[in-house]
Amino acid sequence: MTAFAVGVDLGGTNLRIAAVDDSGRLMEKLTTGTQVAKGRDHVIDEMTAAIRELSTKFKQDTLLGIGIGVPGIIDMETGMLRESPNLPGWHDYPVRDEIEKRLGTRVILENDANAAALGEQWLGAARDYENMCMLTLGTGVGGGIVMHGRVWHGFKGMAAELGHITVDPNGPACGCGSRGCVEQFASATAVVRMAKEAIAGGRAPELAHAQSENPEFGSKIVYQMAVQGDRAAQEIYQKVGWALGIVVADLVNVFNMPMYVIGGGVASAWDAFAPAMLKEVAARSFVYAATTPDGHQPPSSKKTIITRALLSGDAGLYGTARLPMLPNEQKEHRGARLRNA
Ligand SMILES: [Zn+2]
Repeated sequence: MTAFAVGVDLGGTNLRIAAVDDSGRLMEKLTTGTQVAKGRDHVIDEMTAAIRELSTKFKQDTLLGIGIGVPGIIDMETGMLRESPNLPGWHDYPVRDEIEKRLGTRVILENDANAAALGEQWLGAARDYENMCMLTLGTGVGGGIVMHGRVWHGFKGMAAELGHITVDPNGPACGCGSRGCVEQFASATAVVRMAKEAIAGGRAPELAHAQSENPEFGSKIVYQMAVQGDRAAQEIYQKVGWALGIVVADLVNVFNMPMYVIGGGVASAWDAFAPAMLKEVAARSFVYAATTPDGHQPPSSKKTIITRALLSGDAGLYGTARLPMLPNEQKEHRGARLRNA
């Protein structure tokens, strides 16, 4: 008999569900065509139907629980989704209770970037480390902090909003209400904005050409042009690296963790931004300088590693499946609720 958990990744566009056993083996993965635009009741119905389908299929095995990753700010105590830019209409919605009511079983809710960090810590780039930080570069920039193999939640579950660390106090306005957050320089959205700014400023004739040729002009095209040697495109990714470098340097100084993982779609442009990022980290963090991998310390000494994620789009799915496997994870959240009641 196998012990397994169901992980759910509720994205801004579709819904993915996986059954994963406690050794990290993927038993089955479903990608539903669920349209988030059809509203939360539709999404919740489809999600519970798919979860039931998986638990029925593996009913001879032991279901440890269900973890659900959602984009946005979650109140861990109440299981409410407080705010989610990608899920309009879910504002202050009791996601956990609604799903538990339908399934008759307990559910653990987690922020999607926290879940991705946990997935990379369990089975990905940081699998040999108990302590790590992860930045997920997608439409926005998400963050997750894992300490002793557990997500660091803060007192309400809202910790690790690393995408909103300020890198330029007078920079572009951010959706969070602040200015110049790293999300405004290192997300796919930011890459496109910087490309458009360069085009509008007349500094990027090749990018202007690419934009007029491609109706789906995005960060990937800017990356391809950087690889092909376009100066303006390269400068954009250097800016990405600069912003990430400032943030990673801060994280290294704050946490002195052994492992920092960069994931998400924009991370596939690693070779275009990593040199600028690493240079910035080295220049700004004396903790990094003292633990740098190519420094002069003896080979046995501990080093700070900054690296790419390994699980690509599945990190969050594995991370949510991991949640019910961690001892006391549910109790911790419920306990917080009871204590505050
Ligand atoms: Zn922000």
